[in-house]
Amino acid sequence: MRFFLAYFILISTLSFSQKKNLNEKIDSVAYYSNLSKNNTVENKYKNALYYTQKGIHFAKSNNRIDDQAIQTFNLGKLYYDVKKYDDAINAFNKSLSLTDLSQASNTQAYNFYYLGMCYMQKKNFSTAKINFDKAESLYKTLKINTTTDLINLQRGIIYQANGKIDLAAYIFRKIVAKPDYPAILNTKAWALYQMGTIEMLHNRNNLALNYFNKALELNTKTKNLEQKSEILLALSTVHEKMLDRNKAYSFLKLHTNLKESIALLDNEKLGVDDYEKFKESERLIEAAKKNKEIQQQEKTSKFSKLISILAIALISILSLLSLSLYKNNIIRTRSNQLLEEKNKELILAKEKAEKASNARTEFLSTVSHELRTPLNAINGITHLLLEEKPKKSQMHYLESLQFSGNYLTNFINDILEINKIDSSKAQVENTNFNLKLLIENIQNSLKELASENNNYFHLEIDENIPDYLIGDPTKLSQILMNLINNALKFTHDGSVCVTTKLISLEDKKTLIYFEVKDSGIGIPEDKLVSVFDSFSQGSVDINRKYGGTGLGLTIVRKLVNILGGEIQLESIVNKGSTFKFELPFEETEKPVKKVDKKIKLDNDLSLINKKILVVEDNKINQMISKKMLENKGVSCEIIDNGEDAIEAIRNNKFDMILMDVHLPGINGTIATEKIRKFNTKTPIIALTAISLNENREMLLSYGMNDVITKPFVPDDFYSIISKHI
Ligand code: ADP
Repeated sequence: MRFFLAYFILISTLSFSQKKNLNEKIDSVAYYSNLSKNNTVENKYKNALYYTQKGIHFAKSNNRIDDQAIQTFNLGKLYYDVKKYDDAINAFNKSLSLTDLSQASNTQAYNFYYLGMCYMQKKNFSTAKINFDKAESLYKTLKINTTTDLINLQRGIIYQANGKIDLAAYIFRKIVAKPDYPAILNTKAWALYQMGTIEMLHNRNNLALNYFNKALELNTKTKNLEQKSEILLALSTVHEKMLDRNKAYSFLKLHTNLKESIALLDNEKLGVDDYEKFKESERLIEAAKKNKEIQQQEKTSKFSKLISILAIALISILSLLSLSLYKNNIIRTRSNQLLEEKNKELILAKEKAEKASNARTEFLSTVSHELRTPLNAINGITHLLLEEKPKKSQMHYLESLQFSGNYLTNFINDILEINKIDSSKAQVENTNFNLKLLIENIQNSLKELASENNNYFHLEIDENIPDYLIGDPTKLSQILMNLINNALKFTHDGSVCVTTKLISLEDKKTLIYFEVKDSGIGIPEDKLVSVFDSFSQGSVDINRKYGGTGLGLTIVRKLVNILGGEIQLESIVNKGSTFKFELPFEETEKPVKKVDKKIKLDNDLSLINKKILVVEDNKINQMISKKMLENKGVSCEIIDNGEDAIEAIRNNKFDMILMDVHLPGINGTIATEKIRKFNTKTPIIALTAISLNENREMLLSYGMNDVITKPFVPDDFYSIISKHI
């Protein structure tokens, strides 16, 4: 009985711990357990089974395995109570399978005990014993000793059934000897009953009767009807054996009546129909569960199939991607290699082109430079011969020679100029100048040509143009000289007009419009563009009639571009041509440098008795320079290298030094630099067949005062010398 107490404590604890939630949480294990318990007490086993089953499902669906095990045990116990031992065995085994067998628990112990009890009912004593042994060992581990007598009683019954009567009697006697206390009364009554049966076997009927009577006495306290029924039957049997038929009959009658009442009670607990219905519902639930599991499995398998398909698709896509990346990579590597090769080729080609261009520039520079020296001789000697009053017949030849010399000089100068611009060696100056003065000077220098061709040559200069500008007057002069020269050349008995206009003046930045307009022969429409190309002339006839090299407009266009403008041409044949462009300049307050005025030396006596040192290595040039200077009364000394020249200047007084730039040993610029360390006064004029790397500014920076370019133009030669002496 103590065991039942423990069992109810187990159930009640579970119920109590969750009792407070019962009202709020109807759907819970404790709730169903409680309902089941109440129905059991009221003998409503159908309901008890129903709620226990609900408890099991609730525990299962909430994944509470321990609760599920307990509820399954409860189900087994209900089956046991209604004597459905096979169902009970199934439930106990199921409950056991839900427990962790490596860890002892009450649930396990109760399951094994009741399994033993079921097998006892089924008279399978060996299996019963195995289960009792397991239960006993678990109780020991769990230190529960209230069940010892219960198990011993069953053991005794098993011994008895197996014919081990003495062993059985020993066990029963031990139980019988125990004092009466409520929990043992039921066990003790059974032990007394068993003792009675043993005594009856030995035909000790009085003793047997005594045991049965004691058992019946205890039974009045336990009220175990099954037990009472068994005892009544035993009493009937023993009285029969003792030949007391009346008593035997009346006990049998009592037994039969009780048996009937028990059957009625059993039926009340759970009718056959109820049981079948319950089993059916259990089967349906089981089937539904299985169905659900199958569906779940199908779902899972469908899902895993889908996942497999997706994985395969993904792997295929990834493989394709990797393959295409790999191929792409190969293609890219190949095209990179190709590109690299092409790049190398291009770099080589570029280097070649640069080399070729440099070589061309160098070649032109060297050729033109080398041509200048003999040209200087030709021009110089022609000049000298013309000075020496030649015969009339000789005059014609000398003039032709002079024309050819001048033509060659211009041609070489033009080529050198283009070369310079193309090799980007042309530097833009930024000096102060007076635009009005510059244009007037150009007009003055070209007056002769204008009157030769009987042209009306006039200027229209915008008064608003600031007096002083910053820009490159040399290049601007070159541009205007070329254009005006062409205009005057290609116009006869007409007019040439040079116009300048101020387009804008803002923040000292001016934009000025230039126009050179003539009423000459004009240019055919199809030549309007090509006249700007090198060596391009209007026609062979024009060339024959007017001369020229075909380089002037090429230089003009390039120079206008360098200064930030663009040349435009409008022309109508036989009506005239207009060249126009706009250039930016900066306004300045500073006074401009005095623009050089050519000094006419025909009657100029300023050079007489002056002492000039000519530093020149070329014998012909030495001779020409000397002769040209002596013609003007200059006393001339010649030295052919820089070192000796420095010494001579250190030791003598000269009025001027004409210094060739290209000398053997130290060149003219270095020599000048050294001279300037001890002599800052004596004017030094550079004589140069200007090469690619030289320009006026560069030469002046060494301490030179001015530059005379070879081949000399005699007028310029004398004019520059007079200016500085
Ligand atoms: P060239 O030294 O022959 O004058 P340019 O380059 O200066 O070389 O001129 C190229 C050609 O353009 C000339 O030969 C001429 O046919 C034509 N040309 C240039 N300026 C004028 C002009 N003002 N009037 C008519 N034709 C011109």
